[in-house]
Amino acid sequence: RRKHRERLLELLERTAAFYVRFLWESTEAAPARQYLVDRGLDEAILREFRVGYSPSAWDKVLMASRKGGFSNRDLYDAGLAQKAKGEGRIYDRFRGRIMFPLADIRGRVLGFGARALRDNQQPKYLNTSENDIFHKGRQLFAADLARAHAARAGEVIVAEGYTDVIALHQAGLRNTVATMGTAMTPEQVGELTRLAPRALLALDADAAGQEAMIRAAKVARGKKLELRVVELPPGRDPADLAAEAGAAEIRRLVEASVPFVKFRVQRALATGDLATAEGKDAVLGELRPVFAEIPASVLREELVSDVADRLDIAETLAAQLLGRGGTAP
Ligand code: ATP
Ligand code: MN
Ligand code: MN
Ligand code: MN
Repeated sequence: RRKHRERLLELLERTAAFYVRFLWESTEAAPARQYLVDRGLDEAILREFRVGYSPSAWDKVLMASRKGGFSNRDLYDAGLAQKAKGEGRIYDRFRGRIMFPLADIRGRVLGFGARALRDNQQPKYLNTSENDIFHKGRQLFAADLARAHAARAGEVIVAEGYTDVIALHQAGLRNTVATMGTAMTPEQVGELTRLAPRALLALDADAAGQEAMIRAAKVARGKKLELRVVELPPGRDPADLAAEAGAAEIRRLVEASVPFVKFRVQRALATGDLATAEGKDAVLGELRPVFAEIPASVLREELVSDVADRLDIAETLAAQLLGRGGTAP
């Protein structure tokens, strides 16, 4: 059993190298190389992340692996091949996609995230399915590359997508990781606390990303992890922003991160209905549990004052309706 696992890891490692060679050396991958250049990613950083490209043929990985002495079962168990419906025949799972190796904290490839090159190719991202080796909820993307930097900085940046992580590393923010394309899990929060005492959430500035930050904070509740939020311009993600506005701008935004509770209050004020008394009461109701966890502090006073301003009510009333704070940590 253990031997089988070692064998699969060897196959995954070789396949990652195969995709990398195919990206840089094949004619077929020319559009993929152009796509990556257009997204502002340099060859050096792409090589560091072992980004590759999978051939569009149905059996290139299959053939190469067989030549290397691997069986169909190995390919299947490693998540690299899948069976045709009804038949016993297997074929390559990843075809004509940009390949992001998903490695564990020691840098061993456990699976792949694969991005479509064209917008009409669905789904946009195809990941290795859950199997005996790859558990998407347990690992953080780029934990191996970010670990030493996160320890040194005392903080870890958490982005949403693979391209965000790569763009942030290229911008010099080497302490960046991401989830493996899922909502944050308790295991991943555990991994984050092992990397650093503070996490800067830099998820997409769209509704999904903002909600994901609020859910992540719920998962991290009670854990020894200080949360801050990196605020990006509406609709953008870190990779978009690095490409449009440059490395210095993205570093500036990360530098200007705000405490999670500040983001949380702003979000409630931005999404609530502030035009009616009922709407204001609903916002206060939403914020009461948030304020229950903020200890007496200057920050708390500032946030109470923001709420009072935006709801157009007296500060003493806001303070009263938001309830009592938590005790100092
Ligand atoms: P890109 O910049 O390449 O378009 P992204 O990282 O901005 O990708 P998002 O749509 O913001 O993509 O999604 C964030 C992450 O969620 C992706 O990196 C991927 O891991 C995962 N994801 C997105 N869409 C899908 C999908 N259709 N199927 C599976 N996972 C997905
Ligand atoms: Mn997104
Ligand atoms: Mn995104
Ligand atoms: Mn993006």
